[in-house]
Amino acid sequence: MNAYIERVLKELKEKNAGEPEFLQAAEEVLSSISPLVDAHPEYEKAALLEKMLEPERTIEFRVPWVDDCGQTHVNRGYRVQFNGAIGPFKGGLRFAPSVNLSIMKFLGFEQTFKNSLTTLPMGGAKGGSDFDPNGKSEDEVRRFCQSFMTELYRHIGPHLDVPAGDLGVGGREIGYLFGQYRRICGDFQPGVLTGKSLAFGGSEIRAEATGYGAVYYLESVLAHEGDSIKGKRVAVSGFGNVAWGVCKKLLEEGAMAVTLSGPDGYIYDPEGIATEEKIEYMLTMRASGRNRVEDYAEKFGVPFFAGKKPWEQKADIVTPCAMQNDVDLAAAKAILENGTKYYVEVANMPTTAEALELLRNTEGVTVAPSKAVNAGGVLVSGLEMSQNSERLSWTAEEVDENLHRIMCGIHDTSAAEAEKYGFGYDLVAGANLAAFQKIADAMMAQGI
Ligand code: GLU
Repeated sequence: MNAYIERVLKELKEKNAGEPEFLQAAEEVLSSISPLVDAHPEYEKAALLEKMLEPERTIEFRVPWVDDCGQTHVNRGYRVQFNGAIGPFKGGLRFAPSVNLSIMKFLGFEQTFKNSLTTLPMGGAKGGSDFDPNGKSEDEVRRFCQSFMTELYRHIGPHLDVPAGDLGVGGREIGYLFGQYRRICGDFQPGVLTGKSLAFGGSEIRAEATGYGAVYYLESVLAHEGDSIKGKRVAVSGFGNVAWGVCKKLLEEGAMAVTLSGPDGYIYDPEGIATEEKIEYMLTMRASGRNRVEDYAEKFGVPFFAGKKPWEQKADIVTPCAMQNDVDLAAAKAILENGTKYYVEVANMPTTAEALELLRNTEGVTVAPSKAVNAGGVLVSGLEMSQNSERLSWTAEEVDENLHRIMCGIHDTSAAEAEKYGFGYDLVAGANLAAFQKIADAMMAQGI
């Protein structure tokens, strides 16, 4: 490994020991870019890597809100504005009890690279709160969103930072957040948030975008391998918005998801999540706020495996769509024993470092990295920003066409970059190299 990278990695481990998720994401990027950094000795003097690993700004704030019984609660809010070199900060908001600074930093760092890959002018950020929306009433969620925005509004803007949804933040929450921003600022600024309803500046296909984009990317991988998506059986984890979009597009393309998972376990549907009714039911499960996938098993009479993950099932393709570190070493071994040839990360960093190493080093297995595969969500957010600034809206076909074109481009650029630096068909290295080069060029040119 390049000596400069080695030194930076060592310092990073000392400085960020308490932030395991951020360290994991940073190590993955740094371990891919050695030959590129070798070719640019000027980066060390400019401390480019050190700058790239330090968020431009981290905001932490108090979010007090009142529940339906009149009791006040206090949660912690975050916005990590990681890197704004190639455009306004951009990235989702996550409401989940697991949210902490390390998770916000890792997501903001990944977002910077993901957004670079989209080719659109967006920097990287992430935010959210340790608030748990599950089991909360509609009024409680609204009051929480309003309180959250009462602090966040001063840090965001269409040219400064444009949040969107992520886990626990969907169209409903974006609506409440937008309403509060408008009330405080007295200004109708659709470009301040993305993932809005179509009624006030949202984009067609935004809800489907991450899942659809993932399947478009997968199809590029299969084409590269001389294979086809038709008839493929896919193990999916999660059952939220992203998994829903994946299942929907797989069905359209003649393949099918056979598993879904939740915090309670997973379901296996031998006939596939392959009817409109089943796919629609995923939305019902999500809207119920119960956060359990067993409901699917009960409704459709299929097996449910309590407390387990779907990786033990045989599948042609594995697509983790739930959360970070969903696939550990034991799971990766099970996936390989099942003869899976395509491992396509959809959730952000769903694979532990050891599991990823094993999968990447296994002959005959293609690994596709989340920061490229799931870029479709933020990509359509970028298109939503364009539509907002032009004060017009594109048709679903127009948005989908752009999504498809750019996702295929991300695959092809990643494959070409990996090839250029001697990695062969290594999509993990390729995504890191391609994303890094653009951010590095912008930072060096701006002298920051
Ligand atoms: N949360 C999504 C992501 O991780 C979307 C972000 C956005 O649209 O800004 O990419």
